[in-house]
Amino acid sequence: MKTSARVVVIGGGVVGCSVLYHLTKAGWKDVVLVERDILTSGSTWHAAGGFHTLNGDPNVAKLQGYTIGLYDELEKISGQSCGLHRSGGLILAETPARLEWLKMAHARARYLGLETQMLSMKEAKKLNPLLEEKYFIGAMLDAADGNLDPEGTTHAYAKSARIGGAEIYQGTRVTELKARKEGGWDVITDKGTIIAEHVVNAAGLWAREVGRMVGIELPVLAMSHQYLVTDDMPEVIAFNKERGHELPHIIDFKSEIYMRQERSGLVLGTYEKNCVPWQPKTTPWEFGRELFQPDLDRIAHNLELGYKHFPALGKVGIKKVINGPFTFTPDGNPLIGPVQGVAPNYWLACGVLAGFSQGGGVGLALSQWMVNGDPGFDVWAMDNARYGEWATRSYTNEKVRETYGRRFSIRFPNEELPAGRPMQTTSLYDVYVKQGAVMGDSWGVEVPLWFAPKGVKPVDKVSFHRSNDFKHVKNEVKNTRKSVGVTEIANFAKYAFSGHGAEAFLSRMMTNKMPKTGRIILTPMLNEAGMLIGDFTIAKAKDDLFYMWGSSQAQIYHMRWFEQHMPKDGSVHTQRIDMGLVGLSIAGPKSRNVLQALTDEDVSNANFKFMDHRCFDVANISALVNRVTYTGDLGYEIWVQPEYQRRLYDAIMAAGKKHKIVNFGMRALLSMRLEKNFPTWYRELRPIYGPFEAGMDRFIDLTKNDFIGLKAARAEKESGGKLRRVSMVVQAGDCDVLGDEPIWHKGKVVGWVTSGGFAHHVNKSLAQGYIPKELVGDEEFEIEIIGKMKKARINHEPLFDPKGERMRG
Ligand SMILES: Cc1cc2nc3c(=O)[nH]c(=O)nc-3n(C[C@H](O)[C@H](O)[C@H](O)COP(=O)(O)OP(=O)(O)OC[C@H]3O[C@@H](n4cnc5c(N)ncnc54)[C@H](O)[C@@H]3O)c2cc1C
Repeated sequence: MKTSARVVVIGGGVVGCSVLYHLTKAGWKDVVLVERDILTSGSTWHAAGGFHTLNGDPNVAKLQGYTIGLYDELEKISGQSCGLHRSGGLILAETPARLEWLKMAHARARYLGLETQMLSMKEAKKLNPLLEEKYFIGAMLDAADGNLDPEGTTHAYAKSARIGGAEIYQGTRVTELKARKEGGWDVITDKGTIIAEHVVNAAGLWAREVGRMVGIELPVLAMSHQYLVTDDMPEVIAFNKERGHELPHIIDFKSEIYMRQERSGLVLGTYEKNCVPWQPKTTPWEFGRELFQPDLDRIAHNLELGYKHFPALGKVGIKKVINGPFTFTPDGNPLIGPVQGVAPNYWLACGVLAGFSQGGGVGLALSQWMVNGDPGFDVWAMDNARYGEWATRSYTNEKVRETYGRRFSIRFPNEELPAGRPMQTTSLYDVYVKQGAVMGDSWGVEVPLWFAPKGVKPVDKVSFHRSNDFKHVKNEVKNTRKSVGVTEIANFAKYAFSGHGAEAFLSRMMTNKMPKTGRIILTPMLNEAGMLIGDFTIAKAKDDLFYMWGSSQAQIYHMRWFEQHMPKDGSVHTQRIDMGLVGLSIAGPKSRNVLQALTDEDVSNANFKFMDHRCFDVANISALVNRVTYTGDLGYEIWVQPEYQRRLYDAIMAAGKKHKIVNFGMRALLSMRLEKNFPTWYRELRPIYGPFEAGMDRFIDLTKNDFIGLKAARAEKESGGKLRRVSMVVQAGDCDVLGDEPIWHKGKVVGWVTSGGFAHHVNKSLAQGYIPKELVGDEEFEIEIIGKMKKARINHEPLFDPKGERMRG
């Protein structure tokens, strides 16, 4: 065994072997993998081996497409068969809502370059005669679906990695990890120590234990999962004989069953609601290549439905039942990347529930991240930084059980899931609920979404169409625009940067010039490749103190970036304030009157201008006040310590009474930002877009000091980039865009929607998205919403207050 290596990958399942292979492919040869037992001995060996491209996140779907395309390459390099069966797959819908979901997935596949097709049940039955079509109303065919041999595939990765120069040590367990003072890690195994520059936690079922070796508790939990293998079936034999190929896979949402051909019978697995975690605290090291006792009672309900939907199943015997563990994260997507707060070069590649759909993409993205400092893709949906401290072990347990049981459920855009909630609440939670607020989860914090007036039940009717909140959100918007409204913004990310080096540091991180004392700027943040990795509001409180606000979901992601770039001389101190500062935003033409009534500070336009920042008393509370709001109207953000927020709210409501102040929720806020063409982080602003493509030109100062990404930004400015963010008015009918719909132009898909909805004040359905920059002058576009083409036209100026007179007045 080597005593030093550039990388030690811990874990020889499909994921670890993929990471190892991709590292060699990226040019790193001095890489080793250690496996406590033999390759595949975690959850990999007993997997059903199915693969598919379908994923709720288009960026993950793309990486799944990459994984599936990779197997031919692996077979070629290694000479090892992956046992591929590219049979295609049918997804069956039995309700109109599920059919709508399929139509949306089909539309999205168009711009992802994936091959799907909508089918009638007659057509679906032709492809797979085992189904009883009377229970379904439509289907989607995904040509890329198939299955493989899990062991063969893992060995194909391993052999290809070895050919690339990697070494693999089986029967070697990592027992301890120690960060070295001079950088890198001591990887202590039961066979000796390897000094490594980098370590990768690809420990699958033991990922939590390998996390604990560096003092972290990863949000990962193993679930017991079962599939049955049937005896040979005459129907399958006859089908193969007649058609000369295998049956396509099936996913049946209703019975929560997936099914595929295995020899002359079937494999049938379930994602039952009645699911069971395995080893909720600690995975025993001695757990070997073992299976659990079958538990068919647990899935009896699913089987009963399955026998109805696929009658031939009722006549066949069960040859064996596989019941084994595999890991889930709270949202079902992997955990990859470096971990904020852990010494550098500790990487995650774990929590992968679909190793044969995702393993290749995980390996590719992680290896690029390690070798080039950037994953090269938008991997936000898999980045471990998407979780905060609130994702504890017991939270993970609740949420994973919900996610497992909903694996074949659709999620509506206005559907809030209950598990693990409420987690964090502000002092206004009860006050809001009493006033009819429908609450939602925003990165572990409860936020008001909309308010049901007296007599209206505060519940969302889940739908892909406009729903019961529509007219109430409209009233919130209208009343705010007419007079004044108040909303809670406690969930925003907040940071403080202090020290004599703070300004220089922020100036190096951000594209915009730092503000003068008492002023605010908006600024994007770029990576080295000049792509958007952040979007912030920064206020200069004094010479050596800056406050910054950003997207709540990205705060660990951003802290990780700041820590990586922080000067080592102690000249800057960065603090993530989190819920240590909470806020209320008042907006609308009468918001100044409300604020003035609560302070002796002169807040007239002459004395407290747009983009000013000040610290003064509001309702006797020391507050940080910013003259900005995301509504794009006259308005203020008032930030106080949490123990004062209730008093602040009461005072605002009392002062606002004579102006008929209203509460507004997150949905009204998002509607108001749409009519101002304001982008949002994660939808319009992501690392796949350049700042000029995103239309952030006025926040980029190419003449200031050398900021990260400057060179690339200059090049983008010169070339103009490829895409443009646009806002469009859509003839939407009763169904606004949700995001990820294709944008058509002259019969071709040319772009995609990032977000949208109904802009209530201007009374129009709006969409934001990206199209090729050459098309920006064109008039006629169409957006495919749930299978229907809707006319769309670019609006080059915000529809509300295009000159910003309200905001600045
Ligand atoms: C019944 C069942 C059916 C499934 N069907 C499918 C399917 O059809 N399609 C699909 O894509 N996925 C399926 N899966 C899921 C799939 O098995 C997993 O996604 C995949 O195996 C995860 O691989 P991994 O490499 O992350 O983890 P693992 O396979 O668990 O590998 C981790 C490895 O790390 C080693 N290790 C851990 N700690 C240490 C240490 N300290 N030192 C050295 N080595 C260590 C372990 O021994 C193990 O070999 C199924 C799972 C089950 C249980």
